[in-house]
Amino acid sequence: MNYAEELKKYNLKVTPQRVAIVQELYLFGHLNIDQLYTKLLNQFPSISLATIYKNMNAMIERIFIQEVKIPHEKSVYELSKASHAHVVCEKCKKIEDIMISTQGVLEEVKEKSSFSITNSAMVFSGICSECSK
Ligand SMILES: [Zn+2]
Ligand SMILES: [Zn+2]
Repeated sequence: MNYAEELKKYNLKVTPQRVAIVQELYLFGHLNIDQLYTKLLNQFPSISLATIYKNMNAMIERIFIQEVKIPHEKSVYELSKASHAHVVCEKCKKIEDIMISTQGVLEEVKEKSSFSITNSAMVFSGICSECSK
């Protein structure tokens, strides 16, 4: 994956910090802000948390990156992809994508609710294969 090209596709300015954020998300799938900060400090010892937030917000605005809200945990971030569900390990907090269509459930919720639905997140939890050994 050419990270700089991807940023350009989304009309985002290419900076070394942004390329590093995209690279980490590509490699690790889902990371929260603290994890991103720790990883970026290795490459940019003087980077601040505020700078990371600023860059993240710009990329979230363009929907290049998406926030995943995990109940009772810090939000994680991932590169945007087709809508899907998540599974979270209750022990090690590992998060994996489950590439299922969430459209059917969304339609049913819309039908049965008097709300106008603006957002959805489907998160399942359990014990991962590593932790159940
Ligand atoms: Zn686990
Ligand atoms: Zn995901």
